[in-house]
Amino acid sequence: ILARIKDVCKRNGLLILSVLSVTIGCLLGFFLRTRRLSQQEISYFQFPGELLMRMLKMLILPLVYRTKSIPIIKSNKASSESTTRRIIIYGVQDENGSNVQNFALDITPPPEVIYKSEPGTSDGMNVLGIVIFSATMGIMLGRMGNSGVPLVSFCQCLNESVMKIVAVAVWYFPFGIVFLIAGKILEMDDPSAIGKKLGFYAITVVCGLVVHGLFILPMMYFFITKKNPIVFIRGILQALLIALATSSSSATLPITFKCLLENNHVDRRIARFVLPVGATINMDGTALYEAVAAIFIAQVNNYELDFGQIITISITATAASIGAAGIPQAGLVTMVIVLTSVGLPTDDITLIIAVDWALDRFRTMINVLGDALAAGIMAHICRKEFIKDGDETLTTFLPQ
Ligand code: ASP
Repeated sequence: ILARIKDVCKRNGLLILSVLSVTIGCLLGFFLRTRRLSQQEISYFQFPGELLMRMLKMLILPLVYRTKSIPIIKSNKASSESTTRRIIIYGVQDENGSNVQNFALDITPPPEVIYKSEPGTSDGMNVLGIVIFSATMGIMLGRMGNSGVPLVSFCQCLNESVMKIVAVAVWYFPFGIVFLIAGKILEMDDPSAIGKKLGFYAITVVCGLVVHGLFILPMMYFFITKKNPIVFIRGILQALLIALATSSSSATLPITFKCLLENNHVDRRIARFVLPVGATINMDGTALYEAVAAIFIAQVNNYELDFGQIITISITATAASIGAAGIPQAGLVTMVIVLTSVGLPTDDITLIIAVDWALDRFRTMINVLGDALAAGIMAHICRKEFIKDGDETLTTFLPQ
């Protein structure tokens, strides 16, 4: 038994460390709250967590850029173009009128909006714009033949070096997570001051996220791929923990890539396309939370919602979640769209701010889970085209 435990620890060392970090971070945060630290002391304490966030953000740009160009250059033109089409359709199927405009603007970014700012939140990155730019460049380089070779080799070098940086950086993450979580707990409002109603609201959101994450998404995965979703989810546990710690699906991207490629053996070309696009527009958790929050705000205002309005809320919540960036509390900002659609007071967003920092972590986990499962599903749907390509990762698609 001891040998078995040793083996499990050896294989899942990083994952076990991450689980421990989340637990230690929570305990440490609640313990230090009783010590009444000064603002200055809290900011020193938050420093290692801040460093973790910066490391993750530093990796997103090279990661997204190189991950899109290379696979397009390497793969068969027809299949890569049809895959691109399918993925975009999968991601934007729920767009409404105004969002199509935003989508078009997002995918053609001038340099100054590569990093775009969302009002009331920290800076986010226009991942979708970078993905589309890199994809276009990849297709063009592929058509250039020999004259494109220097840039292709550059991208390949970038590819390898970024993955090497990720492999080193992941060992810092458990340490950073402790301070990230504890620092947030030190900052939060007094839990006893949060009302009973707000407590029920938070429980409703968490229950909805649990049902979506543990039943609906895995069932979708199972019905389409006929593979075991538990095995798949086990492979991305570390990414889910990073999502819990950072509240950002974009910041979690490097780890989601690593988990999908190394643990779940998803074809790298699919992962490299689906994940960045998913982190930008496929936000199941955010959509669910926005709908529940809007209904909660209506109830607080004694506003009776009819069936049509509930449908409107569901549709606009989906659209608003597509507009939200993959950064902390972006969903809170795009909530305005949902409230406006049924005439609810937008100022009442302040009612839910007290618990939003915690709910954000759970919905981000579901966002990341949704993206990862979507990559698994797309890999399954596109497997025949890749088999035709004769790619080296072909074996990962064959029945196991
Ligand atoms: N924090 C979420 C994410 O990064 C977005 C949100 O709902 O605020 O996926």
